[in-house]
Amino acid sequence: MKFENTRSFAKRLDQEDILRKYRSAFHLPKVNGKTAIYFTGNSLGLQPKSVQKLIEEELTDWAALGVEGHFHSRRPWLHYHQFSKKSLAKLVGAKPGEVVAMNQLTVNLHLMLTSFYRPTKTKYKIITEAGAFSSDQYAVESQVKQHGLNPADVVIELKPRQGEHTLRTEDILAAIKHHQNELALVLFGAVQYYTGQFFELNKITKAGHSAGAYVGFDLAHAIGNVPLQLHKHNVDFAVWCGYKYLNSGPGGMAGLFVHERHAKNKNMVRLAGWWGHDASERFQMKKGFKPMPGADGWQLSNFPVLTGAAQLASLKIFDEAGMKSLRAKSLMLTGYLEFLLKEIPHNAHYFSIITPKNPKARGCQLSLLMKKNGKKVFNAISRAGVVADWREPDVIRIAPVPLYNTFEEIFLFVKIFSDALS
Ligand SMILES: *Cc1c(COP(=O)(O)O)cnc(C)c1O
Repeated sequence: MKFENTRSFAKRLDQEDILRKYRSAFHLPKVNGKTAIYFTGNSLGLQPKSVQKLIEEELTDWAALGVEGHFHSRRPWLHYHQFSKKSLAKLVGAKPGEVVAMNQLTVNLHLMLTSFYRPTKTKYKIITEAGAFSSDQYAVESQVKQHGLNPADVVIELKPRQGEHTLRTEDILAAIKHHQNELALVLFGAVQYYTGQFFELNKITKAGHSAGAYVGFDLAHAIGNVPLQLHKHNVDFAVWCGYKYLNSGPGGMAGLFVHERHAKNKNMVRLAGWWGHDASERFQMKKGFKPMPGADGWQLSNFPVLTGAAQLASLKIFDEAGMKSLRAKSLMLTGYLEFLLKEIPHNAHYFSIITPKNPKARGCQLSLLMKKNGKKVFNAISRAGVVADWREPDVIRIAPVPLYNTFEEIFLFVKIFSDALS
């Protein structure tokens, strides 16, 4: 596609966009009374208008039925974790039994590390990306200490080469090989939250397995953003949150993936709770934990229905729109953003884009490394009605989301940004 730097061209792309009707399925926030240009779906996705109805239905059923709602409400609460399985499985490229909605991301990461990080005298190292999201770093650090080990001896953080901002796959694979004798686990953010780099999950997983290690991914910035094939790529486990691209609401429902080949392994060490126990005898309250097969066996507590209802509303939209169409539009939106940014006169003087140029190596987000006055520029675009994201020390993250952002918004944003630079 040959892009043009005109508002009429941007409007034409919007008219031709087969997903354009979905914008009106969301509440769009306002700044100074005007609809904001909202580019932070990577931080908190917007509210689908259908969320309110689904939550109200649960409130109505609770009011009318009390405890009987577990069995007799329109979506019986007892089975609620099953209602999102198909949609989540499609989003991450899994079988329904390999995924479950539960908890929050960091909690799920701890549950997965408890099962998949079992260091021995010889195999104890963890390879991960340098500058991972703080919560992931803390989870790993505390898990390592819990095994009586020193994080400095265990955690290998891979940094980009001198003068580069993102990791090369060849360097990741080489590091895995280099540490193979001691390697226990490879853990990466599938899409790096700061740079927006989409790692090559397939190659990383293969290399990790060749080294005799487990391989897991944090999908916080990947689910609902990029196509994923966790089952096919043999990933051991993955975790995600629901409030970013999944639009499931602040602090909303998270989830996890465990590959089918671990589904029936009852010897796997895990932290257990009654909701993970064999459903057929859960209410007998007997001694001795018997995990359900698959991801369900990692559940701890009974399901939080109100946040789960919000997620169901959002997943319905993903089911309808389909990841294939969403990704196709996303590539265009982000490609158009990149094109217009490069059209800004002397752009290299003001900023550089640290997200990979290859569209296959990124999702929708572009990270702009500001070379001067970054915070001032950010404040100026915020005053002009752009909701973007500032990351210390000098990065502005822009994430146009295919479900609700438009090409015209990208055009208007770049105009505002360009004015703010000069
Ligand atoms: C957003 C995000 C988190 C947040 O963790 P919560 O447990 O949901 O608060 C963790 N890790 C990554 C990589 C994230 O992007």
